[in-house]
Amino acid sequence: MIKLHKLPSFRTQLTLIITMLVFVTIAVISVLANSMINKEFEDYAREQQKEHTRDIVTNLEGQYDLDSNIWSVEYVHGIGMSALYDGYVIQVYDKSGNVVWDAKNHNMETCNQVMMDIMNLMEEKRPEIAGHFVTKNVVLTQNGQTIGSVTMEYYGPYFLNETEFNFMDSLNLILFIIGAVALVCAVIAGGILAKRISQSVIKTADIAKQISDGNYKIRYDGTIKTRELSELVSAINHMAESLENQENLRKRLTTDVAHELRTPLTSVASHLEAMIDGLWEPTPQRLQSCNEEISRLSGLVSDLEQLAKVENENLRLQKVEVDLMELTKTVAGNLEMESAKKNMVTTVNGESSLVFADRDRLNQVLTNLLSNAIKYTSKSGKISLEVQDTKENGIVIIQDNGIGIPEKDLPHIFERFYRIDQSRNRSTGGSGIGLTIVKSIVVAHGGSVQVESEYGKGSKFTILIPKEIS
Ligand code: ADP
Repeated sequence: MIKLHKLPSFRTQLTLIITMLVFVTIAVISVLANSMINKEFEDYAREQQKEHTRDIVTNLEGQYDLDSNIWSVEYVHGIGMSALYDGYVIQVYDKSGNVVWDAKNHNMETCNQVMMDIMNLMEEKRPEIAGHFVTKNVVLTQNGQTIGSVTMEYYGPYFLNETEFNFMDSLNLILFIIGAVALVCAVIAGGILAKRISQSVIKTADIAKQISDGNYKIRYDGTIKTRELSELVSAINHMAESLENQENLRKRLTTDVAHELRTPLTSVASHLEAMIDGLWEPTPQRLQSCNEEISRLSGLVSDLEQLAKVENENLRLQKVEVDLMELTKTVAGNLEMESAKKNMVTTVNGESSLVFADRDRLNQVLTNLLSNAIKYTSKSGKISLEVQDTKENGIVIIQDNGIGIPEKDLPHIFERFYRIDQSRNRSTGGSGIGLTIVKSIVVAHGGSVQVESEYGKGSKFTILIPKEIS
């Protein structure tokens, strides 16, 4: 036995799972987005550095006049100072190696300050790249002629300034806020979803429990928008319905059986009482009448036994290959005496038809139908049996020109204990179970039984047995 109170509730589990899933997803997305942004920024910074050094070189090359062999020192100074504020410390030399402009000579303090700031910032923000100042020498040319050279000192492999780091930080902050908001929304949505799903599950479990306690009338009547849950609920509703039907059937059967037994028993008891009390002479006719009632009772009991057998053993059919034609002839032969007594003509026509079925049970079906035809047909009537063979089915048609069945009774004749006009059955002695047995057996074979009848003209019963081996 599972200890129910120790198990976590479905809703809690569902909320936890959804929250965890969303959390992991957001975490993965954040880490990926963050590392991608960082990488993109690094690539951008490296590219910027290359471009910057190229620009410095190109700008410097433009400050030399080939004709007069003079450097425009004022402009070189401007380029050098702007480069310095961008983090590049440069020295420009002429073609003879003399200093044209040197950032350190010009403003040592600013140079040290700029280099220091960059180094501190990078060591604080990007210690993992283990950067340091590198020096790069580039020859300056104009129209293919060497005009001098430049030495550039800058932080490598790349560096970012304060504004760029701030931009990256705010980008990460935005990402974090989006993640946090998404997580809160997901937890709320997960909770609502879990509640919605678990509500129907809890209600279904409650209904199942009530069914197991014997309340078969209960049904789930709300709407469910999840396919699997709706299937579960309709299965439970279906189960409750069939249990309710079974229960009703069981109750009805008990009342029906009691009712069926009471009439003959009362009659025998009152006859016997009258004889014991000396009110009636125990004449052979009276004893014979009692005997008939008792035979009717044992007939009813054996019919009930048959029905119980068929209904309980539906799944245990002893299937063999049966030729319906041969079986029909056998049954007709068995009942020959009965029909002869009433001076009837019974004909068997048609073709051989092989089906895979329980021979004894089919024998019972044909016997019931044929004996009904004999019972409910007046003397000198005609009964025809016909066997047909189609691709899918073996078919037997039993037709008589007897009293027929009123239209209003046709839908009910296969029900237990259903008899048309009690008075006409009194003399024929039927119990109203014969056709119920017929239907149960045919349905157990996957087949069907149909009836057509016209009151006063005769009846036609058609049974179909499928050939497919199941
Ligand atoms: P029973 O034992 O009373 O014959 P069945 O279940 O075999 O019970 O039949 C149910 C009722 O259907 C019968 O009471 C009878 O009135 C009617 N019935 C069955 N077969 C025929 C038939 N061939 N012709 C006329 N009535 C029939």
